[in-house]
Amino acid sequence: MIDIGVNLLHPQFAEDRDAVIARAAACGVEQMLITATDINSTRAAIQFCESNQLFCTAGIHPHDAATADADFASTLAELASHPAVRAIGETGLDFNRNYSPPTDQRRVFETQIELAKRLHKPLFVHDRDSDGEVFELLSRADAGSAGVVIHCFTGNRQDLQRYLEAGFYIGITGWVCDQRRGRELQALLPEIPLDRLLLETDAPFLIPPRIPPAVIDWPPEGVSRKHKRRNEPALLPVVAEAVANLLKISRTELSTRTTTNARLLFDIPEPA
Ligand SMILES: [Zn+2]
Repeated sequence: MIDIGVNLLHPQFAEDRDAVIARAAACGVEQMLITATDINSTRAAIQFCESNQLFCTAGIHPHDAATADADFASTLAELASHPAVRAIGETGLDFNRNYSPPTDQRRVFETQIELAKRLHKPLFVHDRDSDGEVFELLSRADAGSAGVVIHCFTGNRQDLQRYLEAGFYIGITGWVCDQRRGRELQALLPEIPLDRLLLETDAPFLIPPRIPPAVIDWPPEGVSRKHKRRNEPALLPVVAEAVANLLKISRTELSTRTTTNARLLFDIPEPA
């Protein structure tokens, strides 16, 4: 399987990053796309990918939009020419927290949409409470040509329909496992065609509230006490199990389909 959204450079992984990758591989998650959130983390992600045969994004998160300097686009373009970089992002709008002012978020998002189009790279998009504006900016810029994934989709039916009609992929996280917060997403899942689904953990965030022992025995030995509530890419099968149950198909079939989708969108080869 391929985890298409792992914040592997997050400080929560500083002590045991290699063990996290090894545990993921042991659970069948052999490849992943590391999410970068600003220029520095893009650099760090690329460097990390060089020694680990992994892949990453290059971009500036809406939370960090205010930190983007005047010529961030040319810096990003240069970084994105590295073969490990398979998408531009994570980028988008987050009006839930507004860690960066909305005007900065819009400007930095629009610049990255143009960059993705110019470089023919897919966009890794974050949409939180944008009230349709992420869709508006993407469609106004005709962003779909190189592919778009709306990662960690938590929107409503209208959002979903618009994204699907535009040809975008939908990234599903452990949010779907949450009986309370995930209820709307659970109801919408059967409306997502199998050839548009992608799976991600968004680790270290969004650990599934319940981890069925039948899927994986967690936490394993070697995970220190302070990391017991940290999400890891090894838990991607838990997300897959929840989605497969909602779609009434086997986890194996779902995994095969979503892995094929990830290879196609991000041009990720079979592991060597
Ligand atoms: Zn995000």
